[in-house]
Amino acid sequence: MDLAQKLEILADSAKYDVACTSSGVDRPGRHGSLGSCAAAGICHAFTPDGRCVSLLKVLYSNACAYDCSYCVNRRSNDRPRASFTPRELAELTIGFYRRNYIEGLFLSSAVLGSPDRTMELMIEALRILRQEYRFNGYIHAKTIPGADPLLVERLGLLADRLSVNIELPSEGSLRELAPDKKKSAILRPMGQIAVQSAASRRDLAVYKRAPAFAPAGQSTQMIIGATPESDRHILNLTEALYKKYALKRVFFSAYLPVVADRRLPALTTRPPLLREHRLYQADWLLRYYHFSAGELLSEAEPNLDPYLDPKCTWAVRHPEFFPVEVNTAPREELLRVPGIGPKSALRIVQARRMQRLGLPELKRIGVVLKRAQYFITCSGHAPARGTRAEIAGALLDPGAFGVGVQQLSLDDFAPKPLPAAAPAVHELAAQGVAPAQAAQLVREEALTCLVKRM
Ligand code: SF4
Repeated sequence: MDLAQKLEILADSAKYDVACTSSGVDRPGRHGSLGSCAAAGICHAFTPDGRCVSLLKVLYSNACAYDCSYCVNRRSNDRPRASFTPRELAELTIGFYRRNYIEGLFLSSAVLGSPDRTMELMIEALRILRQEYRFNGYIHAKTIPGADPLLVERLGLLADRLSVNIELPSEGSLRELAPDKKKSAILRPMGQIAVQSAASRRDLAVYKRAPAFAPAGQSTQMIIGATPESDRHILNLTEALYKKYALKRVFFSAYLPVVADRRLPALTTRPPLLREHRLYQADWLLRYYHFSAGELLSEAEPNLDPYLDPKCTWAVRHPEFFPVEVNTAPREELLRVPGIGPKSALRIVQARRMQRLGLPELKRIGVVLKRAQYFITCSGHAPARGTRAEIAGALLDPGAFGVGVQQLSLDDFAPKPLPAAAPAVHELAAQGVAPAQAAQLVREEALTCLVKRM
């Protein structure tokens, strides 16, 4: 098998990994648009200094010794297999880099024989890149759970970012769907990376030439929708991972049915993209808005609302917290107002040192007044008094009722619910209701429910 064939197989096998920012999307180029989002091959990630870099995204090997039931690369699946040699992978990366196709590498692998052997081969490929070719670009490498801690250490000294995929949100699901994997084998390298990364940062603060261990930190990925865990369970786990292992990101991956298995959703099931989006919004609230998982979801309401973003949901459930006075409230309180984000909260705090703020100033600052106006006062005055239906209408997320136009042939344009529209819209459309009407019906029902809750 030549290198081009191996690349085709191993880049295609890597496309289900979403632990870098642009993965998992398959959007062809469009007339009048610049660029395309290919199904596999090159993805993008953000470096610690905020630059967006393009990465060659491949598996070292897709010949897996494990049999995780949700994975296309599992042992029992009949598909073409390939593995690089360390030198092939290093030369391929350098060739792409020299041709200016990529700025770095995102390297993962199936378990080739054993975790230790796989890690040794990955480490050798990165060693050739770093030491022989003196490649200084960004490298994100996946750690194989169960590998020896010494190998994790060697990998961390070669890569900028490490990640260990937690895969499924609970130990029970892991046992059921990925019997070769153990929760302890996943969490142990996470703990090791957290400790060694913190020690490396301390050393670097003292000695400029101290070796850097995973300077861009670590991340993980969790599959959403393959197993029955609630959003509350997933968010609690996410919060615990951030706290305990100082993760930079937890990536959520809507389960894409690629395998027929009685333990998994049917092959016709739509990937839960709206749920994935809500989880990312909630994750944002944990990381930048000082919310805790316990505030967002409870035992009585364990799942995120498909029609409202999680911050609006919290605001609707906590009328006692509002209105917030923009001229005096601390930044933490401003951050709870729908329509005020971290940047606008900071700008409000800075601007009100100079002057009293009213609606025109808030608009200039970047506050989304369509939502915020119902939750604030400016010098004691409420800027808007809407009916409950008006307020509910301003809060509903239009993305949940999205309908787009799909071109089926050269002159045939057919509307259909957008992939991230609410499942109820897709269900009605599948029953033959016109997509725009389905979206309208679901929106009206969501509005009525929301008005009753307010
Ligand atoms: S270890 Fe499991 S998830 Fe990873 S490639 Fe092998 S079968 Fe797939």
